[in-house]
Amino acid sequence: MSKGRFGRHGGQYVPETLMGALEELEQAYERYKNDPAFQQELGELLAQYANRPSRLYYAKNMTEDLGGAKIYMKREDLNHTGAHKINNVLGQALLAKKMGKTRLIAETGAGQHGVATATAAALFGMECVVYMGKKDTERQALNVYKMKLLGARVVPVTSGTATLKDAVNEAMREWTRRLDDTHYCLGSVMGPHPFPTMVRDFQAVISRESKAQMLETEGRLPDMVVACVGGGSNAIGSFYDYIGDEAVRLVGCEAAGTGVDAPESAATIHVGKPGIFHGMKSYFCQDEHGQIAPVTCISAGLDYPGVGPEHADLHDRGRAEYVAITDEQAVQAFEYVSKMEGVIPAIESAHALAYVMEAAPNMGKDETIVVTVSGRGDKDCAMIARWKGEQVDA
Ligand SMILES: *Cc1c(COP(=O)(O)O)cnc(C)c1O
Repeated sequence: MSKGRFGRHGGQYVPETLMGALEELEQAYERYKNDPAFQQELGELLAQYANRPSRLYYAKNMTEDLGGAKIYMKREDLNHTGAHKINNVLGQALLAKKMGKTRLIAETGAGQHGVATATAAALFGMECVVYMGKKDTERQALNVYKMKLLGARVVPVTSGTATLKDAVNEAMREWTRRLDDTHYCLGSVMGPHPFPTMVRDFQAVISRESKAQMLETEGRLPDMVVACVGGGSNAIGSFYDYIGDEAVRLVGCEAAGTGVDAPESAATIHVGKPGIFHGMKSYFCQDEHGQIAPVTCISAGLDYPGVGPEHADLHDRGRAEYVAITDEQAVQAFEYVSKMEGVIPAIESAHALAYVMEAAPNMGKDETIVVTVSGRGDKDCAMIARWKGEQVDA
């Protein structure tokens, strides 16, 4: 079992019934990833439909106010559907079409990946079913409406804690029932091989672009690259092209909720232990019996008790650093960046921006930071208003 390993993490820990589907997917991916026609079609979709390349924006006001390193934002919030998720979804949907599949299924937590998958299904004329924890369907009613509007069916999942991890379980179960016509469009760099590798490759466009953009504007590589980590797809996409550039510090920002030591912290690399779940070996938040622990934080997109296996390995090897950001810090960054730059970031992205606020003043004016704004914050405004004790109609 050396396939899809990242150091001691990764692998394929699934029931026998799923192995056939994973092998079919792996073979298709191996074939198409080096196929110039496939890459050209995907490149055109990313440009024409998703609005790539995304801007590398020099955040002048923030830079001057914080008084240290020069801050650049990689603006994934400007992509169609408002986040980085579309990069992965267009890649997988196109692959599924080439494989002759007519149906996409997906899990979703906050609904962002569900909306992106429903969008691609609409574009390609495919059937779409999204599994979503019942609790999340209630918290994210607007995204449920959007998915239905786009033609998808949303299935509320009532097992377990009725949240994201249960939706993943249900989507995997459903996949084993209908392998012939269905592709499981997984939303992050997690799950069994080939997903962590394939999703990373589709998201690596972020760092490929940012590297070229930095070389063009600054004439050199950034000193630090910062991104938030839920399952880890926008972060690995932001890091990937820099992994071999040892002088570039890579910083992943995890959600600590009310505090990194709080029992429900979602800062997996800080508090998690090695384990096997959702088909992969990695770090997971666990209780004293080794059961997956319930996690909560302000950001639904970071509310996952595990982390992608490649991040677990980058941590083990000391190549990337992982920091924990509290709800309080993220909300402060959300407000600060909105006011300072006129950019309302997703609350997930605000975790990365919170770290930049901390790090930039301690760096030299000749140093540079690239921070990924993984998504836009429209979806979070009502929730943050409530968090601040204010009521808005949304
Ligand atoms: C889903 C989401 C995340 C978290 O997912 P990753 O796989 O860790 O990138 C972060 N930011 C936004 C805007 C999201 O929608």
